[in-house]
Amino acid sequence: MMQRLDCHVKNYAWGKDGNESEVAQLFAAGHPQHQVGPKTPYAELWMGTHPDGPARVRDSSENLSKLIAKNNSENNNKQEIHLPFIMKIMSIKHTLSLQVHPTKEQAAYLHNQDPINYPDRHHKPELAYALTKFELLCGFRPAKQILQNLQAFPELRKVMGEQETEEFEKVIKNGHPQESKQAKAALRKCFKKMLYSQINSPTLVTEQLKSFYNRLESGIRGALIEETIPVLESMRKHFPGDVGCFSPLYLNHMILQPGECCFYAAEELHAYLSGECVECVGCSNNTIRAALTPKFIDREALINVLNYRMTDPEFYLVPPQKLTNYPNVTEYAPDCKDFTLHEIQILKSQESESLAANDVPTMLPSLKCGSIMVIVEGEARAKYLLNQKIIKRGDIFYIPPRQSIQITSNSNQFLAYRTFSYEIGPNHSFRRLG
Ligand SMILES: [Zn+2]
Repeated sequence: MMQRLDCHVKNYAWGKDGNESEVAQLFAAGHPQHQVGPKTPYAELWMGTHPDGPARVRDSSENLSKLIAKNNSENNNKQEIHLPFIMKIMSIKHTLSLQVHPTKEQAAYLHNQDPINYPDRHHKPELAYALTKFELLCGFRPAKQILQNLQAFPELRKVMGEQETEEFEKVIKNGHPQESKQAKAALRKCFKKMLYSQINSPTLVTEQLKSFYNRLESGIRGALIEETIPVLESMRKHFPGDVGCFSPLYLNHMILQPGECCFYAAEELHAYLSGECVECVGCSNNTIRAALTPKFIDREALINVLNYRMTDPEFYLVPPQKLTNYPNVTEYAPDCKDFTLHEIQILKSQESESLAANDVPTMLPSLKCGSIMVIVEGEARAKYLLNQKIIKRGDIFYIPPRQSIQITSNSNQFLAYRTFSYEIGPNHSFRRLG
């Protein structure tokens, strides 16, 4: 049976404050006993079984992972079965660390070397679906644009190393495509030099940043678009003297409009900048940070894990697909087994307002796996088996496998998101505590 869930909020410092945060508002709508703290940052709402913020079944207060274990017929005495994903709502005020996630193989290696900073053996692919205008940095820019910025901003050359950047320019100008081993190896050297400049020559970084900002003020843009200038200003304010403040010069600045969606797997450098999104991530904590963060920075691991792909930002977009037979469901299926996202949108048509047409129920696909659904807008009647209930904004449900659900919207717009996966989630019972 469909089960109502109580979920967790994360109050990380980069979250939007109080009622400015969609996370706060949505959480309060579904958890009426919660008082929103006006000055408290509300960064993430977690919907999943991850031990750092496990969902509980509202009726029984039991962890969702236990309910899934109980209901799994192939379960051989496991106390808990985890979902392979966490669905999140995020409200981002400013940049939250330049980072990359390892592949499964890399994660296993890192975990063996350093189980404190890499608490599990799993990978963490990520998908971000824009609820509002949503900005992020993702993947290295095409080589041409990096070259253009090296020309326009000698400060970038200085922190990446004169010799290293010269070599990179030569490789590209000699006709090696940006996909080639040579190009990637040359970029890697530039990147490595730059990351280490933060500890090897912090004064150089501070000086070059100052000169870089002066150059921006004089109107020089290189390959930058005007929308990237406020991003640079925000980084300057929140992370003064941080070498990561140069990152928009070599990473793609993506500006997603509501309903647009992007995905990146392991080995891709990225940073969320601002806005609200639905995020689907692998059920893991493995994050390797490069800069723009007070948290642990692991330069060596980061340099080794990156794939140094240089590409247009469109590479990371996930195309929406209307499901045949389910006209109100749009699927976002990235190239990974850990999660697929469904957007469920029912709009009342103006002309037929008083007609029965609006009362035609919307069927949701019956899936062979469990899923989590969050209602983001509106109110509706949900029918399943012989049950019927009103579902509304803020409600979060676990839908067990093979459940047929019919939804009849009571409002002008009903909007919900559902995440599922056919995989079994990781075993978290060996995690270190604390
Ligand atoms: Zn990430």
